[in-house]
Amino acid sequence: MTTDNDNNRATTELEIIELVAKQHDYFKTGATKSYQSRIDNLHKLKAALIKYEADMHAALKQDLGKPEFESYLTETGFCLHDLSTTLKKLKGWMKPKWRMTSLLTQPGSSRVYYSPLGVNLIIAPYNYPVMLTFAPLIAAIAAGNTVVIKTSEMTPTCSAVIRKIISEAFDPEYIAYIEGEVNETTLLLQQKFEHIFFTGSPRVGSIVMSAAAKNLTPVTLELGGKSLCIVHSDAKLDIAVNRLVSSKFLNAAQTCVAPDYVLVHKSIKEAFLSKLKDRIIHVYGEDASTSPDFARIVSDNHFQRICALIDPQKVIVGGQSDAETRYIAPTVMRDVTLADNIMSDEVFGPVLPVLEYETLDDIYKIVDQLPHHPLACYLFSESSALQLEIMNNIQSGGACINNCIFHAANHHIPFGGVGESGMGAYHGFDGFECFSHKKGVLKTASWLDNPLTYAPYGNKINLLRKFMK
Ligand code: NAD
Repeated sequence: MTTDNDNNRATTELEIIELVAKQHDYFKTGATKSYQSRIDNLHKLKAALIKYEADMHAALKQDLGKPEFESYLTETGFCLHDLSTTLKKLKGWMKPKWRMTSLLTQPGSSRVYYSPLGVNLIIAPYNYPVMLTFAPLIAAIAAGNTVVIKTSEMTPTCSAVIRKIISEAFDPEYIAYIEGEVNETTLLLQQKFEHIFFTGSPRVGSIVMSAAAKNLTPVTLELGGKSLCIVHSDAKLDIAVNRLVSSKFLNAAQTCVAPDYVLVHKSIKEAFLSKLKDRIIHVYGEDASTSPDFARIVSDNHFQRICALIDPQKVIVGGQSDAETRYIAPTVMRDVTLADNIMSDEVFGPVLPVLEYETLDDIYKIVDQLPHHPLACYLFSESSALQLEIMNNIQSGGACINNCIFHAANHHIPFGGVGESGMGAYHGFDGFECFSHKKGVLKTASWLDNPLTYAPYGNKINLLRKFMK
């Protein structure tokens, strides 16, 4: 594990303690708080991201076999787009927001003020190493904080570029980069931060939350889960299949919001499966290992784990793999039930189990029996009544109607999980809020001194009842 100025040795506990202390001191100077300093630092980050865009794409290719188009769409381009929105909107976001003032607290006016939280720890996972490092960082800078960043040990080439970007653009007392494995993260988690923003698995999310509890540090947890995709009998099947294939197999399905499994209505199942198979072959060819548009699995462990989920008896397309290049073909399994291994945990790989349903109750029972709250729920249906029914009755972090995963690309809506798929949300203004303290401020007028709540109370309680109705 390395620091920004030394690539070849582990960061010691003392260095971590000193780094966090320096960030606390720097935060206390107030240097991060003004609108202008936030804007200047966002511009510095933007310049560095542009300068190293090609290096990041090469690193993503090296670590994950990610096609350049996907790297731009979901990593560098995503962050640049996020930066543009933030730069444009920040002045408005920072302004105190007017709220109603209740009768009891009149005469007066009320506002919400946004203040930075302080020193933040951001921990990123391996699957979108660039986006999941920089998107929270953009929000943290916009909200006026200092940050220590820890990326995943599984994407070392990306980590090297991220280290370069951070250390060139910022001083470590403001934004510091630490690359590390479990030991270093454990040391980091023992420090006092004002906020920890963690993206990763529910298992590690729970470790992070336990460590944070010792210091009463608030956490934002962006976790995983089994995101479902419902294809109803009235869905426009070609559109459903096109969107499902492109969102599932993006980044070889190492995407937290990838449709994990499909629930297809019994009446259209055969037509759906046939179109799904044709579409996969159309997009990636008969042999997807030769496609320039298909990524690879990050590690041997994940490769073995995903291969073990494939039941050859149920495969209708794909199923091939190559351990040396960590290639797993885009694969669909039909007639899957909850008893199949693949339904016991998040797939996080290019294998798509398809289950069938007849009634809405079938859907609810399946979702209910799975261990995690879904991070996302997708519905393909032309019926507004069904859309409303599913959005109201399936609890998920986010959702798309007649699409998959693209809710995460819209910076104007919150992105986050619910229950075991996470807590807290970010993106756009919600990201700014996530890294801010919302201070409710009541300003009471001094032209009147309302004696209603002063003792002696006498029989003022009757009047009070009217004010508090
Ligand atoms: P992970 O939980 O294994 O690792 C995430 C981070 O935690 C890494 O930086 C890792 O070094 C660190 N870590 C690992 N073990 C640790 C420990 N014992 N103590 C402290 N830190 C530790 O996750 P991953 O495998 O890198 O990523 C895949 C998971 O992340 C999936 O579950 C996926 O759904 C989830 N994810 C969620 C989102 C989201 O936005 N909700 C986005 C991407 C990934």
